[in-house]
Amino acid sequence: MEKPNKPGGLEGSPAAGIAASTIETGSIPDELWEAAVNNDASYDGQFFYAVKTTGIFCRPSCKSRPPKKENIRFFRTADEALSAKFRPCKRCKPTGERLPDDEWIAAVTEYIDRSFTEALSLDHLAGISHGSPYHLHRTFKKVKGVTPIEYIHQKRVELAKQLLLATDKPVGEIGMDVGISNTPYFITLFKKKTGRTPASYRQRYSDHRKEATEHGKQD
Ligand SMILES: [Zn+2]
Repeated sequence: MEKPNKPGGLEGSPAAGIAASTIETGSIPDELWEAAVNNDASYDGQFFYAVKTTGIFCRPSCKSRPPKKENIRFFRTADEALSAKFRPCKRCKPTGERLPDDEWIAAVTEYIDRSFTEALSLDHLAGISHGSPYHLHRTFKKVKGVTPIEYIHQKRVELAKQLLLATDKPVGEIGMDVGISNTPYFITLFKKKTGRTPASYRQRYSDHRKEATEHGKQD
């Protein structure tokens, strides 16, 4: 930590150059200062900055008002900021647990599995899972291979298939049961996913099932 930071060495890679455990005020690399002023989230986890006048420290992405440069201190970890007697910002919660992507997405998936028959939007999911819609969309896709909306559609179509075969409910009602109250939209989505309309799916596969049952009886 005695080594002065060379701003040149930090270029191109946010993670690479920030090796010092505490970054002394005298040698604030422009890169860190810029990141803090611009609320650059790609630096979150790389460093924290504290404001001497308020005694509070933040993540780089914190939307709080930018401090004066002479009042700022940089830390490599939240623990170091805490031991220097700074308090975590209530807004960006720099000591808050950050869920690894997999756990985060598992929690969102669980929520969808429980509630996909209700109206669900990406904004709503982002709200309950404490992320931005954009970030959730991207991370979900990265972890599960499909977007949250595609996943919801899959769940709805799967349930619709079951209901079509297990009940005599009209197609519109089944649409509503699986969370899609707009019947034409339900039919379009179902066809897109299965290659058949709900009515044709029901006919095709319940006939199949009936035949199988009858054969079963005969044998
Ligand atoms: Zn903050």
